[in-house]
Amino acid sequence: MLTIGMLGGMSWESSAHYYRLANELVRERRGGHHSARCLLYSVDFAEIERMQAAGEWDDAGRMLADAARRVEAAGADLLLLCTNTMHRVADQVADAVRIPLLHIADVTAAEVRRHGLHTVGLLGTAFTMEQDFLRSRLAGHGLTVLVPEADDRKMIHKVIYDELCLGEVTESSRAACLKAIDRLIGAGAQGVILGCTEIELLIRQQDTAVLLFPTTLLHITAAVEQAIAAEATAVARAVVTA
Ligand code: GLU
Repeated sequence: MLTIGMLGGMSWESSAHYYRLANELVRERRGGHHSARCLLYSVDFAEIERMQAAGEWDDAGRMLADAARRVEAAGADLLLLCTNTMHRVADQVADAVRIPLLHIADVTAAEVRRHGLHTVGLLGTAFTMEQDFLRSRLAGHGLTVLVPEADDRKMIHKVIYDELCLGEVTESSRAACLKAIDRLIGAGAQGVILGCTEIELLIRQQDTAVLLFPTTLLHITAAVEQAIAAEATAVARAVVTA
């Protein structure tokens, strides 16, 4: 099994979810006491959040590139940037290492396409919904991406930073986000991407009839599949050469 490298702490609430899912998925697939081989580098989110608010993306990218190099040096075979928002600096991070960075938008778009959908709503931080870095990557996979109206964007951003990143999950925010999802469906969305790694701590598939694409689950599932497939390939090679 490959070792999955994770750049997390953005926020640690979602990184804990990544870690749990990684292990649950490996147990599901391999059984017994198998668990995920992984390395987690967890930042102090206050530093990242300050740089985001100040628009200091290059500095944040440098910090994450440095973290990525440390994770690679520690033995990771592939790398996950465990946040949608910081994919704003995904190229800077990917360029710092030789191991592949599994881009969250590529994995998500593949799942949307697998369901035969082409128009999707996107919930996330204001950076993710309003800037181009994730939307254009999704569009590059042939998707039309709809974002909520300004009031909903403001509300969702606030829920993410003031509640979910601090471990607070409330019924009122769940209801407000579900209304925003309904409005996206009204605008033509065939499915909705939960494009912030904390949102799936608040909204579950059973809360709505529309198909949801939870990016944390999709991201870590793809990583676990790669990690296990590499092992299967190595075993097959050993059998052939034996
Ligand atoms: N985890 C969030 C995301 O997926 C937001 C926190 C951050 O800004 O990194 O975008």
